[in-house]
Amino acid sequence: MEIANGYCRARTVSPLAAFFMPTLASRPKLVGVVVLVLLSLFAATVVVYETGGTTYPYPYVILLPVILAAAIFKIPGGLVAGLIAALCIGPWMPLDVANAIMQTPQAWIFRLVMFLLIGGFTGLLAMLMYLRQQESIARERIDPVTGLVSPVAAIRLVAGEDETDKLAAPPGYAVVVAFEGLSAVLRALGIEASNRAICKIGRALEAAMGPERLVTRIHGATFGIALPGGLRGLRSFVEDMEEKMPETIPFENFSLLLLPRFGLARLTEEDRLGGHAFRKAMAGLTLARKHGRRVGRYSSSFDISARQSLVMLSDFERALRADELEVYFQPKVDLATREVMGVEALVRWHDVVSGIIPPSVFVPIVEKTTLIDQMTRYVAQIAIRQLATWKEQGVELELALNISPTLLGSADFMNFLKALPGEHGIDPSFIEIEITESALMEDGDSLLRVLHDLHRDGFRLAIDDFGTGYSSLLYLKTFPISTVKLDQSFVRDLPENEASAAISAMTAAVCKRMKARIVAEGIETPQSEAFLLEQGFDVGQGYLYCEPLSATDVTAWFATHAESLRKQGQAQA
Ligand code: C2E
Ligand code: MG
Ligand code: MG
Repeated sequence: MEIANGYCRARTVSPLAAFFMPTLASRPKLVGVVVLVLLSLFAATVVVYETGGTTYPYPYVILLPVILAAAIFKIPGGLVAGLIAALCIGPWMPLDVANAIMQTPQAWIFRLVMFLLIGGFTGLLAMLMYLRQQESIARERIDPVTGLVSPVAAIRLVAGEDETDKLAAPPGYAVVVAFEGLSAVLRALGIEASNRAICKIGRALEAAMGPERLVTRIHGATFGIALPGGLRGLRSFVEDMEEKMPETIPFENFSLLLLPRFGLARLTEEDRLGGHAFRKAMAGLTLARKHGRRVGRYSSSFDISARQSLVMLSDFERALRADELEVYFQPKVDLATREVMGVEALVRWHDVVSGIIPPSVFVPIVEKTTLIDQMTRYVAQIAIRQLATWKEQGVELELALNISPTLLGSADFMNFLKALPGEHGIDPSFIEIEITESALMEDGDSLLRVLHDLHRDGFRLAIDDFGTGYSSLLYLKTFPISTVKLDQSFVRDLPENEASAAISAMTAAVCKRMKARIVAEGIETPQSEAFLLEQGFDVGQGYLYCEPLSATDVTAWFATHAESLRKQGQAQA
C-alpha cells in the first residue's frame, strides 16, 4: 500500500524484505549490537572454558547473544550467531578441561543443529512481530477512507519527526478545507456512500494540489493541507484551488456540488514541533463558520478564549459540586394592575476569587457541554422548591425557567422537567419555559414535537430575547407559544428611539391578535413603562421594579415594595 502523495512512502513491508531488514534503523545502533553480540559470544566461551568445559551446565549462557542477534537481525542474525556460538564451544572446547577429555563429534554437531534451530526460530518470531508492527504503523499513517496520509502521520511529517519522510522545506501555512453539505449525502444514502463521496473529494483535492503539497484528511470531508513556501505558496494554492479543483464531481448518478470553506494559519517553528499544524487552521475554520465567511484566519485571541473556556469549565464543574451556584429571582409585574404575577429564576455563580460571575459569561460556555443538564436541574429544583414555599405562605406566583434547547432533545431531561411541578404540588401552568429566539431559529424543526408535548402537559412556553434573532412572528403560528418577551435592547431606549418604539408597538399588536402574552424585559424608567402600557404590553420586568435578588431578599421585597406597587396600580386605575 503506497500513498500517491509525494511525501509519504508508507507501505507494508513484504516478508522477503522483512527477512533482511534489521529491527533498528540507525547505523550506529546496529554496529553497537554487532559488537555486543561478538563480545558476549567471546565472554560466554571464556566462561564455559573457565568453568571446566561443556560437561557442566554453563554452555547455555552462550544462547543469550544468539537470541539477541535473532531479535535484531532476525533469521539471518539468529543463524549466523547460532553458528558462531556452536563453533565457539564446538570441536576445540574440551568436555572436561581438568581431565583433558574432548567432546565427541556427535555432541558438538547435535549442539550446532540445536543452536541453528533456536537462532532461526527466534529470528522467525522476531520477523513476524516486525511485520505486524509495520502493518499497524502503515494503518496509523493511512486514512482508511481516502488512502491519504492520516492526520497523525501528517503532523509527524510537518513536525519533521519522521526520520524517513521529512518534508523538504518547512511549510509556511496550514490550511484546512471543509467541503460542506455532505451531510445530505449521509442522510440520503448512508455512511458507505458518504465515505465514497469523501474519498472522491479527497482524490480530486490531492490531484489539484499536486505532488509538492501534503494532503491529509482530518475528519468527515475536512482536509488539511501543509503549504510550503510562505505567502507565495499560499497564492499558488489559491490559484490551484480555483483552476484545478472542480466545482462538482460525478457521484453515483448525480453530480456532487463542492462547497469548500477554508481555515488558515501561518505556522511558526513552535507549531511544527508541537504538532499544532492543523489545530490552528481548524480554529480559523471555526471562525469562518461563525462569521459566515468562506475563509477564516486563525487569531491568537481564539486560543486565549478557548483556554479561558477550558479553565472556566473545570472551575464551574467544581462550583456545581461545591454548591457555589445560587438562584436569584427577578419579579415580573402585571403592567395593568401592578401586581407581582411571577418571577424569573436566574442562576448566579459565586466564585471565591472572582466574586459573582454573571450567567452571560458562563452559560454560553456551559451550554456546549453536558454540564448544562446538571446546572439546569439544580436551578429548576431550587426555584420550584422556593415557589412551593411562597405558595405555602399565600403568595401564588408564576415561575419562568430559562432552558437551553439542547436539553429539550434529551428524553431523560424531559421526564425530569415534566415530573417536577407535580412533585412540589405546583400546577404546570404556573411554570413558563423560556427558550431564546435564536434557539428556535436553529433547532425549530426538532423542537416542534417537544414543545407541543410540553404544551399538552400544561406548561407555558415563552420566546426569550425576542427581536434579536431577526426572525418573524411566524413562530406564533407554528409553535404553541404563550408568551413573547421583547428583548431589552428594544426597551432600554423607549420611548425616544423611533425604531425601538415602532418595533415594540408592532410586536405588541401582533401578539395581541395572536392571543399571546407580551412581556417587556429591562424596563428601567417610568417613561418606557408608560409607553409599553400604552402599546398593550401585559407584563414588565426590570430594574424599575426590582433587580434579580436572592430568595431571602426577594421575599423581603414582596413584603414591602410589592404592596406599594399594588397601591400605585390601584391609584392609577
Ligand atoms: P434573560 O433570560 O434574558 O434574563 C434577563 C436578563 O436581563 C438577566 O440577566 C437580568 O438580570 C437582566 N435584566 C433584567 N432587568 C434588567 C434591567 O432593567 N436592566 C438591565 N440592564 N438588565 C436587566 P442575567 O441574570 O445576567 O442573565 C443573563 C442571561 O443568562 C439570561 O438572559 C439567560 O439567557 C441566561 N441565564 C440566566 N440564568 C439561566 C439559567 O438558569 N439557565 C439558562 N439556560 N440560562 C440562564
Ligand atoms: Mg430569560
Ligand atoms: Mg431575555
